Amino acid sequence: MFFQKPLLSWYDVNKRTLPFRDISNPYYTWLSEIMLQQTQVNTVIPYFKKWIRAFPSLIDVAIASQHDVLKQWEGLGYYSRCRNFHKASQIVMEKYHGKIPSDYEQFLALPGVGTYTAGAVLSIAFNQAIPAIDGNIRRIASRFLGRKKMSPNAHKRIVNFLQNEIHSKRPGDFNQALMDLGSIICTAKNPECDKCPIQINCKAFKFGSPEAYPEKIKKKKSPHYQVAAGLIWKGEKFLIQQRAENGLLGGLWEFPGGKVEIGETLEEALKRELMEECKLSPKIHRKAGTVKHVFTHFSIEMNLFHCSVDQGQPKTDLPFQWILPKETDQFPFPTANHKLFKLLEQDGWTI
Ligand code: SF4
Repeated sequence: MFFQKPLLSWYDVNKRTLPFRDISNPYYTWLSEIMLQQTQVNTVIPYFKKWIRAFPSLIDVAIASQHDVLKQWEGLGYYSRCRNFHKASQIVMEKYHGKIPSDYEQFLALPGVGTYTAGAVLSIAFNQAIPAIDGNIRRIASRFLGRKKMSPNAHKRIVNFLQNEIHSKRPGDFNQALMDLGSIICTAKNPECDKCPIQINCKAFKFGSPEAYPEKIKKKKSPHYQVAAGLIWKGEKFLIQQRAENGLLGGLWEFPGGKVEIGETLEEALKRELMEECKLSPKIHRKAGTVKHVFTHFSIEMNLFHCSVDQGQPKTDLPFQWILPKETDQFPFPTANHKLFKLLEQDGWTI
């Protein structure tokens, strides 16, 4: 064992206080691990607390509508995590009589559960000696072992190494200690090696360039899109449409519209999109505002236009609603739409 002991001693003194820690509740552990995927812990904490107030137990999640769970998740992003967690909670109720399975294969088979989540939940909530290897822990192991290239072989080596290192009596603490070390000390940039409990055997530290481990994969430049959307008024109400369930922001509501194609003006794109999407040809009045939003793999500039129709309904397979401005808080919307709501509140929601 190279670092089990010093790591756990460090953890006992330095561990982060988190609302889902030191509580023996597999539901809390599972939910927190899903929320923490791709998301900073400080962002997760208020969402976690709000969610637990709305759904104190897993059965409350299972019997809730998708609309209600998405509303609680609104703003946290990566909404497939929420939809999968909801589906998984229903499977646990139906197939496992409400008891979260502690069997690795059964838990791994639930929607939205990958090897990292399975390792984290089963080690923390069920005391099973299974490593949980995410980007942070891979980085620590890559540095400790002096493995720069993340080849499939290097990955296997890391898995074997952590399987040998994990503490058989405190596997959850071992995994959480690595999570905290990666978050507080062995960070991607400027690791604080002088404060690190496992420095003595760390190869990257010995070689003198810990930041160079693991080798960074060059990211492609992410594309930027112009989007035109319509705030389509009919009297005092405007149109919102629900996004298809399977896909980006699935199940959330939005203003209808879409991407601008090469050579199109914003207005031309809006007319085309509204005709393609919902067979509507409203009168376009003026621009209501523009906001920018960055997703993981692309960014958008969303241009919203005040439009109006006298009568008629959209012809679309997707659910739609005509709502009053004060009713926006009853639906889950993507963050870009919330940015537009702010502009509209300043502007007075008027054509
Ligand atoms: S010594 Fe430095 S590089 Fe090595 S594990 Fe600790 S913080 Fe990371």
